[in-house]
Amino acid sequence: MSRPDLRARYAAERDKRLRPDGNDQYLEPTGRFASLLDDPYTPVVERDPIDEDLTVLLIGAGFAGLVHAARLVEAGITDLRLVDKAGDVGGVWYWNRYPGAQCDTAAMIYLPLLEETGTVPSRKYVPAPEIFAHAKRIAETFGLYDRALLSTGITDVRWDPEISRWVVRTDRGDVLRARYVITGTGPLSRPKLPAVEGLETFAGPAFHTSRWDYSVTGGSPEGEPMTALQGKRVGIIGTGATAVQAIPHLAASAGELYVFQRTPSSVDTRGNVDIDPDWFADLQPGWQKEWQTNFATLQTGGITDVDLVEDGWTDISSRIRDAVIDEISKGAEFTPETVAKAFGDADDLKMDEIRARVDEIVTDPATAEALKPWYRQLCKRPCFSDEYLEAYNLPTTHIVDTEGKGVAKVDAEGVWVGDEHYPLDVLVIASGFEFGTDVGRRSGYEITGPAGETLAEHWADGQRTLHGMHTHGFPNLFIAGLTQAGNLISNVPHNYVESATTIAAIIAHAEAVGAVEVEPGEEAEEAWLALLLNGSALFGNPECTPGYYNNEGRPIDDAARKGMAGYPGGAVAYFTYLDAWRDKGTFEGVDFR
Ligand code: NDP
Repeated sequence: MSRPDLRARYAAERDKRLRPDGNDQYLEPTGRFASLLDDPYTPVVERDPIDEDLTVLLIGAGFAGLVHAARLVEAGITDLRLVDKAGDVGGVWYWNRYPGAQCDTAAMIYLPLLEETGTVPSRKYVPAPEIFAHAKRIAETFGLYDRALLSTGITDVRWDPEISRWVVRTDRGDVLRARYVITGTGPLSRPKLPAVEGLETFAGPAFHTSRWDYSVTGGSPEGEPMTALQGKRVGIIGTGATAVQAIPHLAASAGELYVFQRTPSSVDTRGNVDIDPDWFADLQPGWQKEWQTNFATLQTGGITDVDLVEDGWTDISSRIRDAVIDEISKGAEFTPETVAKAFGDADDLKMDEIRARVDEIVTDPATAEALKPWYRQLCKRPCFSDEYLEAYNLPTTHIVDTEGKGVAKVDAEGVWVGDEHYPLDVLVIASGFEFGTDVGRRSGYEITGPAGETLAEHWADGQRTLHGMHTHGFPNLFIAGLTQAGNLISNVPHNYVESATTIAAIIAHAEAVGAVEVEPGEEAEEAWLALLLNGSALFGNPECTPGYYNNEGRPIDDAARKGMAGYPGGAVAYFTYLDAWRDKGTFEGVDFR
């Protein structure tokens, strides 16, 4: 297909999917689905409420909370608490137990603190139970279980100026007065549901992938077959990264599987392999930082002697970089236009390969056609699987392509697409997680600062931080995140490993100098925002087909721009900048009082 034709096809496919309601097309779990925010895996054990003063309270015991707590312990700050709604540590790897769940990022770089915990991953890409086990190992290694309040939901976080502490209340009646609070709730933690008419009326079992109900399906997160689905008609709404992993397992177990697709994912090869423990044993101390930096460098268009991880993620970025070098070697100037052209060429080639792969694997031509993605690869989260497309060759797996419209209606018996009704026994909802919605809604509680303003109100016109880590007007509050920082979405825990060192250093410094309040100065915060907004490291392309990568195709206004901004030089430049800033020891831009 010629380039103009391809661009026209991409634009037409995007236009089909644009909708005025953007993020509002999704519902918060209420009514029948209200229990979606509860914990089905661990019974809540009664305990007395706790009333105490402490140095640091970490919200969330996933990798963000665990890594920040570990670095605090290393810095000598042990008077801390981790609070999490879940019955154990692990965050998304606690909640997501759907069949086939595994990390799409290589374990060598994804699993944080491998060296500190003496862990050898079993495979290049490890399954979810192994990741959950690693989270538990971090908690054990750093003595964090004794400091964890699990099965405990935060209800309110409020600054008390009389005592210069955050007063944190929970649904267990706890009152915790923390000198510092670190929020580590991750970018994708609150499940969302499609606002489909009648979804609540479905008579059979229906559940979201992040609360997989093995009592309905049989089987287990460890991969035992879902025998209870034998002879059943199963439907799944959604074909994102979660569905791509779950569908092969559903296809193998269900009597008939109906996949309701709005937009196909791009699915490249997986190529998973075992890790040889002898090879691993020869790695030299400091190897993990080297591997993480190598991956992040290649992710942000940098050049390295060797590609240590060598996978689909580094392939994407290496191709873009090589295309830029090729343009320059042909005499082009290094300009944004040259980069854009090279990026476009590399992307067209890659997506041609992705579409050709569908034809190679899927035997039925109509099914293959429906499974081809027509957008640039980084418009949506790229997926990798050696089983997903293959699942459509089973006569019992049916793609129901909604032509970009999505499922419109559900009734007691099944799902409607256009005039066609699909009777179902079980409905699986793989519609993802809230992203870009207001911080209070996403977390389920408000953080109220000294001026009586909530963080959500303070950020009504967009997020504002210094280094993505803290906000003027909210002393002693730290955010463990990605945005306005490294924005390394392909390896989220790497962001935490880096920010944890800096946040621990700031807190240790404040304690050492006897400061009771720490916050970024207004000017430093303004300068940081200006630096971010003048750069081009934004995540979100309005030309893309809608999704959470681009504000669901809605205009990227000033607030959305701020919420998607990353350090202009990319993740590695940000981490290098932050190391230098911290190591100087003067903590420029931060006020210690
Ligand atoms: P996504 O938001 O990526 O996907 C949601 C899916 O639901 C999309 O296919 C969407 O279609 C579809 N959808 C929404 N509404 C409707 C409707 N009315 N009718 C039909 N389909 C509908 O969620 P996921 O849970 O798949 O993934 C979320 C993120 O979690 C990933 O992007 C990734 O970052 C992370 N993840 C990471 C993994 C890992 O390896 N580390 C594994 C799995 C997930 P449309 O595309 O048209 O919006």
